[in-house]
Amino acid sequence: RIHSMRQLGGTAEAGGTYIGAGYARVIGAAQRHGVELADVTPILEFFREQDLALDGELIRQAEWPTHPANDFPERDKQHLPWTYHRVLTMRDNPLDSPSEWLDAKHAALDVSAHDWFRSLGLSERAIALAYGINASFGRDAHDVSALLLLFRGAFSKEQRARSSSESLGFTARHGVQRIPEAMAAALATGVELEHAVSAIALEKDRAVVVCANGRRVSAGHVIAAVPPPVLRRIAIEPELPAPQASAIATLPSQPLTQVYLAPRSRFWEKDGYAASLFTDTRAGMLAAARNRDDPTEVTSLTAWITGENAAALDRLPSPPDAGRAVIAAIETLRPAAKGQLEFIGMHSWGADAYAGGAWAYFRPGEVTRFAPVLGRAHGRLHFCGEHLATASRGMEGAMESAEEAAAAILENA
Ligand SMILES: Cc1cc2nc3c(=O)[nH]c(=O)nc-3n(C[C@H](O)[C@H](O)[C@H](O)COP(=O)(O)OP(=O)(O)OC[C@H]3O[C@@H](n4cnc5c(N)ncnc54)[C@H](O)[C@@H]3O)c2cc1C
Repeated sequence: RIHSMRQLGGTAEAGGTYIGAGYARVIGAAQRHGVELADVTPILEFFREQDLALDGELIRQAEWPTHPANDFPERDKQHLPWTYHRVLTMRDNPLDSPSEWLDAKHAALDVSAHDWFRSLGLSERAIALAYGINASFGRDAHDVSALLLLFRGAFSKEQRARSSSESLGFTARHGVQRIPEAMAAALATGVELEHAVSAIALEKDRAVVVCANGRRVSAGHVIAAVPPPVLRRIAIEPELPAPQASAIATLPSQPLTQVYLAPRSRFWEKDGYAASLFTDTRAGMLAAARNRDDPTEVTSLTAWITGENAAALDRLPSPPDAGRAVIAAIETLRPAAKGQLEFIGMHSWGADAYAGGAWAYFRPGEVTRFAPVLGRAHGRLHFCGEHLATASRGMEGAMESAEEAAAAILENA
């Protein structure tokens, strides 16, 4: 789920972008393979410039603490709806380290994020504001395990602790995709692209991978590095044990669609609101991209649409229809944008047959049920991918789980 694109004379990312200061594996791979990293610290401050759109009303960040719709507890009214759940999962986090999320002593937290927020004293309205709009995992706070959010909170805390005062993190200068491409180029036999795996047969002394184009490859071991929505369509012989097969078949993946828009003018200077908006409409979260060298220049706008709103956009007849729907929602909110936005593209991770969603998430109860069996080796077949990371998230988590799968094979060699 790394996909770098050329867009309006700059490099834009549809997937993994931010490399935390403590991403030792990703940073190490970039350095070993000569991929230049760029410090994102100067750009990050611009990402904080974002206003809110609630129930058809535009609300400036400065207006939020005293706004009548703000139902956050008194001491937390300064937090914005898009940061508040992150604040809570970092501040009120009982995990001493990210990997503790799988520790039996925290199993009681495998309840809905909604129940956990209630235990902190949040009202229903506050929960809907903090985790009901543009949720990253699941539909809303009822649909995600508190343990997953606490794992992410603990990981963010750890990353922050590892960052220096000068640098908060990186991205790859010419696109994050350069990293896996450089890694692939360094392999003696390269990577064979355009071979969709459709079946894996495990025999006594070898494993055979069958591709949809008829190619068969055999090897001593196989590592399935595909996301769960893809894995559940690959025929595995002999079958996986029932609890593992059920975990793979059930683990949900987050629908996420990005719609890319080019601004014809700097219309945000006309109405005085930030170029970026966090909305409760089908336009989702509209983020101003700064993809050329000058971080003050807004090069394009990306609407990040998640959950049911993303699935609804994906069902429209064509990408331009999705673009029109998103532009119409923005124009209704801010008339200054009327006629000022041009649809330039779209990427749906949910509709991508080789992804099936942006990332895996665990519903309440699923961390304790699925995590112990999800990635268990099955004879000569091993598994890796971000959904199996135990101590890191995102790209670093994907590499962490890959290292573990490789180490397990080497140990038994
Ligand atoms: C919009 C978005 C933003 C993100 N932002 C960040 C970020 O800022 N920082 C961060 O750390 N992480 C981020 N992530 C997450 C990060 O990109 C992923 O965690 C990571 O790339 C997952 O790696 P993976 O190897 O598990 O899976 P993938 O990257 O999905 O790799 C799986 C590979 O398997 C291939 N494949 C699928 N099906 C088959 C098949 N049948 N046969 C053969 N091959 C197949 C796919 O084409 C793909 O190449 C983001 C993700 C998204 C979607």
